[in-house]
This record gives sequence, C-alpha cells and structure tokens, in this order.
Amino acid sequence: MKRLLLLTILLVFVACNQEGKKHHDNHDEHSHDHEMSTESSFKFGTWITSEKDKSNEDYAAEFKKYKSGGIDEVLINTLTDPKELERLTPIAAKEGLKVHAWIMAVNRPGDTVALKHPEWYMVSKEGKSCFDTRPYVGYYQWLCPTRKESRNHILGLVEGLAKVEGVESVHLDYIRFPDIFLPIGLLPKYDLVQDHEMPEYDFCYCDVCISEFEKMHHKNPLESKNTANDMEWKNFRLNAQLEYRHGGHISSEAVNALVSKGVTRDTENRSTTYIIPAVLADRFGNVILDDEGNTIQNNFQYSASDVIASSAFNRIGELSILDASVVRLRELSLHYDLPVSKLKKFPFKTASITLAGRNLWYYAPYMPKYANYDPESAGGGGGFGVPSSKQFSIGFSATF
Ligand SMILES: [Zn+2]
Repeated sequence: MKRLLLLTILLVFVACNQEGKKHHDNHDEHSHDHEMSTESSFKFGTWITSEKDKSNEDYAAEFKKYKSGGIDEVLINTLTDPKELERLTPIAAKEGLKVHAWIMAVNRPGDTVALKHPEWYMVSKEGKSCFDTRPYVGYYQWLCPTRKESRNHILGLVEGLAKVEGVESVHLDYIRFPDIFLPIGLLPKYDLVQDHEMPEYDFCYCDVCISEFEKMHHKNPLESKNTANDMEWKNFRLNAQLEYRHGGHISSEAVNALVSKGVTRDTENRSTTYIIPAVLADRFGNVILDDEGNTIQNNFQYSASDVIASSAFNRIGELSILDASVVRLRELSLHYDLPVSKLKKFPFKTASITLAGRNLWYYAPYMPKYANYDPESAGGGGGFGVPSSKQFSIGFSATF
C-alpha cells in the first residue's frame, strides 16, 4: 500500500519593507522562537518577485532573513526567466529554503513572445481581444487556452522553469479564465453592478474556441439567447478533451468498504499470511529498541482477514485516503453530414447525425485496481458514491 503523506503548505505573504527590517533587527532575541516553529508539520512559504538588479549578496541576506523568520519555502516569480531562477535557486538552497518557480500561466501581461501573436489572446463576448482591451485592470492580458500555439507557449515556459536544477515544483498561478463576476467586496472599487454575466467580462469567444465548440455541439455560442445557462458552453471552457488531474487526495468510504470486505480481486490472495513492514512498538505506540538501541523489524505474521478486514482498513483511516490522480477522456463526438442534396426525394435541406459519448475512458493509477472507482465519484467519508457511468447519445438534426 502506497504510503501517503499529507503535507499542508501554508503560504504567507511577508512584507519586506524597511520598517519590517528594523522591527526584526530590534527583536533578534525572538528568532529562536521562530526557528522552533519550523519544526512543526506546517511548512511556511512566501511568494516573491525577483529583481534582476539585486545582487547575489543581497538575495543571500534576504533568504537568510526568511529562514530565521520561520519560512521554509520560497516561490519565486522571475517573470518566467529560467536564467534568473538558475541564479537564485542555489542562493536560496544554501540558506536552507526550498525553491518553487511561480508563473502567471494563462494571464500573461507583457509577454514579449505572445505579443507578437495578437490572435493568441482571449476574446470577450463583445468581440474585443485582451491583446488591447483588458477587462478590469491593465495586467489582465489572457491567452486563449484552446489554441494550440498559445497553450504550447505556456507549456514551454513551464518546462523551462521546471528544468532548472534544484527547483521543487512550478506553481501555476492564474490558471483559469478572467473573473466573469468579481468578488462583491471589489465591485465598488470598479464602480460595477454585476447582476448578470456581462459580455465585456465573458471569455473566450475567439474563432478557434467557437469553431471547436461548433464541431462538438453544432451551435454558435454567439447566437445563443443566454450563454449564462448554456451548460455545454460552460463545460467546454471548463474541460479540455483529455483531462489530467495530478494528485489531490480523496477519502473514499466506498472503496474502503469494497476492499476491506474482500469483495474485489484487490485482496484475492487471502490464504496467505502477511508481515506488515514496520518496527515493533508497545501498545502505547512507543518504539521498542533492542540491546544496542536499534529498532526491531516486525516479524509477526497476520492472516489476510486480520490485515485487510479487521485491523487495517477498519482502524487506520489513512488507508481510505487515496491519491486522486486521473487521466480522462471526457467527451468524444462524431458528426456526419448526410449528402441530402444528392437525394431527390428527401424532404430535408440538410441532415446530420451525431454520435457522442461521455466518460468513455479514465485511468486512475492509485485507486485499487479492481474496485473500479473513478476518483470523481468514489464517495466521501461516510458516503457511497455511484461509480461514474458512460453515456452515449445519438442525435439527428435536419432543416427543412
Ligand atoms: Zn479562445
């Protein structure tokens, strides 16, 4: 059983102004307390945007300050410059910080490569491109995620940062569409009343998005009376055709019940005995040591029913926590226009047949194989979700 570690990363902003510096210098005696806090199971991180003019020495001093202030990890926005990340990563690592790259993914204001391709940008329902007409704020300049070229551009930037030696992960910020509704608290700032989906904040209606959507659903969202309740149009923007979700954890009572009761083939080897890889401890959980002070490997054998049914799954909640990574083919449709113009007696001007299927295939590598549960529908704590269903539909449309 894969050992799962739940790691919570709490991100905090750190104000690095002069006043903060003075405050810290005057209170050096407290730095020991901060160091104690880093030993807790929480990890603290801070976002920073790098400055090219700032020297390595100044960065070393800054990272040292973070570390002594209880920060464990730093997420650096180098404006997607891998060279700058290469410069800063070893300096931060030397001060004991873990480094993550931080990138504004879909919203890419002032991206010099993208700016050469005005067609890469999202277009509002009003027909205005983010390239020159920006919703809400000057730094809202979003690339269309449906276009292959703009997608590949973003993926290339992520790859460049991910390849930098010593970088733990790439933190994808702004990986969405622009806000069609602003949080209520922000509305007065922009002097807005948003009681419906306003076309100037509704994206993306570029040629590629519309034609890709038309291929699938045979309608143009710009001709829709109310795109706010068109679930197909909403879903189109929500889902890529082939989805991949990396990680995330679910607690599944349904999978736990199936496996622990031995009704799936995951536990078919039931006549054998098991030795749980562990070290010996007393019943209070204190580790038992041998005469030389070493831990002692467990050598007790248990029956399958002890391991699977009565103890493990029923008592150890962690075993119900499963990695929810999944690759999915969400929707596939085939569309055929019948050659009606060649049929003299046919009463229609045009006719077409569409075959569509949803949830045709998924692969969830960390779910128990024979439980056949899709992480999307595996049921939460206490719940028994219904396995996801495949749906097929046949459509016929004609015009007179
Ligand atoms: Zn688009």
